[in-house]
Parts: sequence; C-alpha cells; structure tokens
Amino acid sequence: MAPTKPFLMIFDFDMSLIDDDCDLVFMKELVPDFGEAIVKRYQNEGGVWTDYVDEVAQEVARRGFGEQDILGALKKARLHPSTADAIRTAGEAGADIVICSDANTYFIEAILRHHDLFRYIKQIITNSAYFSISSTPPRLIISRRTLASDPPHGCDLQTPSCGLNLCKGKEITRLVGPASWQWNWSRTERGKTQGSPWDSPSELSQSSTSQSPYGKIIYVGDGRNDFCPISLLSERDIGMVRKGQKLEKMVDGDSKSKIAARVQKWQDGNDLLAVVNREIAEWKTAGVGSRASAVI
Ligand SMILES: [Mg+2]
Ligand SMILES: [Zn+2]
Repeated sequence: MAPTKPFLMIFDFDMSLIDDDCDLVFMKELVPDFGEAIVKRYQNEGGVWTDYVDEVAQEVARRGFGEQDILGALKKARLHPSTADAIRTAGEAGADIVICSDANTYFIEAILRHHDLFRYIKQIITNSAYFSISSTPPRLIISRRTLASDPPHGCDLQTPSCGLNLCKGKEITRLVGPASWQWNWSRTERGKTQGSPWDSPSELSQSSTSQSPYGKIIYVGDGRNDFCPISLLSERDIGMVRKGQKLEKMVDGDSKSKIAARVQKWQDGNDLLAVVNREIAEWKTAGVGSRASAVI
C-alpha cells in the first residue's frame, strides 16, 4: 500500500511548537515568587517535574486565582506566526499532526485554542490535567503520565534523557505501532533496546513500511527527552533539532551514531514552514509520478 498521507508531524510543545515553556509562563504570570522557589527546589531535590507544577496549581488556587486567570496567563505564551502557518499548511495538505509533551493537556489545549490551532491536532500525548470545580477552592489538578503506582516505562535512555515520567519514544511507538514502521530497526541493529517489553523481536519481524499510511515522520523537538523518539526514526524520516538547545548538543555529541534519521536544524517557525512546504511539494510530485505510471 502506498502512503496515503504526506507525513506524520510530531511536535514537542515547549520551545518547539511554542517559543516558551508553558509551565513557566503559568508560574511567572500568576505566582512568580512561588514559581521561582519551586524551580529552585526542583533543581536541588529532583523528582518528577509534573508534581511541582501541580503544587504551583494548588498555590494559584489558594491565592484566589480561578480558571479565567489561568487561561489569561496562558495567552502570554509566545507562538511564532510561521509555526502556526506550518501547522495549518500541513493539516490542510492531509498530514496528521500529533503533540508529545511533558506539559499537560489543559495548558496545551488552552494555548492551541487561543491560536485557533486545536482543530489541526489529531492527538495530544502528555500529562493529564483538568479544572476541578469540586475542589475547595476550585483548582487545576495535574497528574503524571506515568503514575507512581504504574510500572516504570523501562526505556534504556531513562537517565538522563527520558526521565521517570515520560518516554516519548515509547509513547510514539505505541501510537504508530511497531508493525507499521521501520521504527526500532535502526535502534535494535545498534543493540540498544532489543528485548525491551515494547519492541520485542517478534513484533519487529512483522515490521513493514508498506503498511504505513504516511510517507515519512517529521519530528520537531528541542529538549533532552526528544532524543529518544528521534533515535527511533528511520532513514526516510526527518528529525528537526532546534538550534542552541540541549537536543542539539546530544545530536552533535557522542549520541550521534544512534540516529538514523535525516537531522535538520531549525531556528524558528520560518524553518519549520519551509520544511513543511518542501515536503508537501515533494509528496505532490511523487503522487503525480505514481499516478502517471499507473496510467502507463
Ligand atoms: Mg521542549
Ligand atoms: Zn525513552
């Protein structure tokens, strides 16, 4: 089966889809003093960042801020106009767009709706959050993706890139299915994850790109936890690595050999839009070619 969609575009959210960290925007706008203290505490004590953000949400409620205040604060998160264009262009061309982030559903959805982009997003994979009116006082509740009671995700990149809470490689493998991709091939050939519970050799042996509805995957990221999913991409996929951020250092450093995908560095939304336009043009050209050969 030939691909029926030009590509699957997977966005990290903070400093990738938006040009801010939405957790920090939330803190800075509503409880800057408390936010500063909590960041320091996280740096000293470690743990799971999501728990700290939930603690901030509790303080936000305690100080009398309600849902409208939170939504107002989130509007301050910066989003490059060309990133918005890239999302609209990709969506209108039939590409699927997915977000995989360590932020939370509430922040991400609020920001996307504010920019009228929510309708272009097929799925959001992140920590869950909701505004609880039955709490006293009513408050935003944010929960980890991997609960403390859940089994660990088991990714071998847990330290230092994936963290305890979220392995984006695992999440995206679950989403697209190892049987539909050449994903994992490159990683397994390098002897990194063979035998892990989520890409057993029997699943790998069924792997075939011919079942994929997409021409390729384009992954957009900036942070350390974007390394794992990019290392799972195949040769035909594109890893968009933001310049000047932690992911770039990993990709250029010792971990370079773990990446099979074509790596493309990007600075801002203009670079994302250029890649989306190029890939859609290529997809259309390839489509015309295959239709022509079918007629012959
Ligand atoms: Mg990020
Ligand atoms: Zn991982």
